Amino acid sequence: MTRTRLALGALISAAALALTGCAASDASSVSWHGPSSGVVDGGQDGGTQAHPISDSTAQAATGAGKPSASASATPSASTSAAPSASASATAPSDGIMRKTGNDGVALTFDDGPSADTPKLLAMLRQHNIKATFCVVGVAVQEFPQYLQEIVKDGHTLCNHTWKHDEKLGKKSADTIRADLQRTNDEIRKVVPGAQIKYFRHPGGNFTPAAVQIATELGMVSLGWTVDPSDWNTKKWSGNQMTQHIISNVRNNTKPGAVILSHDGGGDRSATLAAYKTLLPELKQQFTLVALPV
Ligand SMILES: [Zn+2]
Repeated sequence: MTRTRLALGALISAAALALTGCAASDASSVSWHGPSSGVVDGGQDGGTQAHPISDSTAQAATGAGKPSASASATPSASTSAAPSASASATAPSDGIMRKTGNDGVALTFDDGPSADTPKLLAMLRQHNIKATFCVVGVAVQEFPQYLQEIVKDGHTLCNHTWKHDEKLGKKSADTIRADLQRTNDEIRKVVPGAQIKYFRHPGGNFTPAAVQIATELGMVSLGWTVDPSDWNTKKWSGNQMTQHIISNVRNNTKPGAVILSHDGGGDRSATLAAYKTLLPELKQQFTLVALPV
């Protein structure tokens, strides 16, 4: 029964949150201002959620631990060729996929598209690197052409909710479902037939209900193992932020890693500068993969 599954999921999820260091630090919401057209509707997600939890809240919510034991999930038999089934196989029991399931390293970029997205796409193109983009519905609405470029370049799409509501997962099932569906509908309005096989809850605040509904909509819930905190523009800025991102990614990336960064939700010039240095390095050390669809 659903209730049983959710209850079990809640327990597992709570445990996972305690173990997962970065789970809530996708507080991109800390710097998430939304597209300039911003509040498209005052509606269902609750406008107040656009403005985020504090850094300390984010840290407290997650603890400082390392990614969960999920790492031990059995990799799929094949590599990137297999579709979502392969992604599912890598998901631990809480239903959140945090590693690629093989030696491949996945770059994931959240909160776009934005005015910075084309610059990132150009760099990825230059190095022939495929990545995964967790896009926000209102941002897709504002920058449809950049979403088209993302897909045209062969990157993977991920649903990051309609307008980055960090508390969406705690709302009613109907509200969650409507938000995720609306986001997928907007994506497919811009790119008909687009494959959207992943869902990432804003702030990493996955709940069993959100994971379950994402599954019902055909999406694997996507976490991460490396978080250089490029969202934390209150703590670092400019070259200091760039250097922080570079050293964090250098020090923490291992085979199978899913790296969290942002191409939207605020000024991403430091992220772009960091990846200018990081992309050739990472490409030399690892196989960089778009998550399979
Ligand atoms: Zn985000």
